[in-house]
Amino acid sequence: SPLTTQRPILALPDHLISQIAAGEVVERPSAVVKELLENALDAGATTITVRLEEGGVKRIAIIDNGRGIPADQLPLAVQRHATSKINSLEELENVATLGFRGEALASISSVAILTLTTRTAEAPHAWQIESGKITPASGAQGTTVDVQDLYYNTPARRKFLKSEQTEFGHCAEVVRRIALARPDVSFSLSHNGKTVDHWNVSAIDKRSATILGDNFANARLPIDESAGPLRLHGFIGLPTASKGRADSQYFYVNGRFVRDKLLTHAVRAAYQDVLHGDRYPSYVIALDLDPALVDVNVHPSKIEVRFRDSRSIHQFVFHAVNRALAQTSATAFGTVPA
Ligand code: ADP
Ligand code: MG
Repeated sequence: SPLTTQRPILALPDHLISQIAAGEVVERPSAVVKELLENALDAGATTITVRLEEGGVKRIAIIDNGRGIPADQLPLAVQRHATSKINSLEELENVATLGFRGEALASISSVAILTLTTRTAEAPHAWQIESGKITPASGAQGTTVDVQDLYYNTPARRKFLKSEQTEFGHCAEVVRRIALARPDVSFSLSHNGKTVDHWNVSAIDKRSATILGDNFANARLPIDESAGPLRLHGFIGLPTASKGRADSQYFYVNGRFVRDKLLTHAVRAAYQDVLHGDRYPSYVIALDLDPALVDVNVHPSKIEVRFRDSRSIHQFVFHAVNRALAQTSATAFGTVPA
């Protein structure tokens, strides 16, 4: 019921601020997986292991061989709005790392039990932080973030989760998205003790073939076009690799998986002459551009972006994909019947 009397305005306590932020950042287990994978990549990891239990709700452990965190910085790592990635507006506008908001670990630790074990190259041994307590630990160089009992303290939130298999599916999709963008990194994914996926370091053609399957691998065109500060590269599926669902569409902007209406539309439009309206093209496309030309600070999950000049981006993407498709004569491949 609405308040009938004015209550005093009070500053929210820190833990409550984190819980509110966590609502946005930690929507479901897969969001934790995404944040932790991005941290591992930002730390220069070349080998990343993801271990999930019960769809990620019981446990999400991500082990990387990256730079690690110096012991004296551990309290800051889990503090809200603390980051090693940017420190000025200029750096924000030119951000080259996947993270920069400094709120993932803080948010996660406000809705789950987070244990972070880390060791830098210089450190004689690893250190661990849990609930603000720092203790010596054992372990190789790199960082292990262990997240247990997601939403243990926010049962209302926990009720919104879907089945274990559904939550695991979302987590696995996040791993695939990131693995597709980084074929130079090896990934492995296990669920309830069983290895589900393992990708060794490889070239992008091989990684995308493994992840999108033979149907895509056998019917795709390489694409690589540049114009001024823009470069579009990757693989686009021929009409024969199209699907009845839009579940094989991977678009990256400066290495970040995005779901963007403008980009999806540009690609879709390029396929218009070769694809029926109820078919969805498959593709793995990366758009690289000067970071100053795109704003990634639109939403905490950074899955949406805003371009400074969206019209020219749309045209560039449309023409690049359209030209690649046109090179394979329409008569040779035809259209895929509905
Ligand atoms: P952000 O990534 O936006 O900086 P996070 O809360 O995700 O914020 O992480 C806070 C900081 O902790 C990072 O800036 C980074 O310095 C450090 N950190 C987090 N995860 C790792 C990791 N896997 N390896 C090395 N450092 C990490
Ligand atoms: Mg981060």
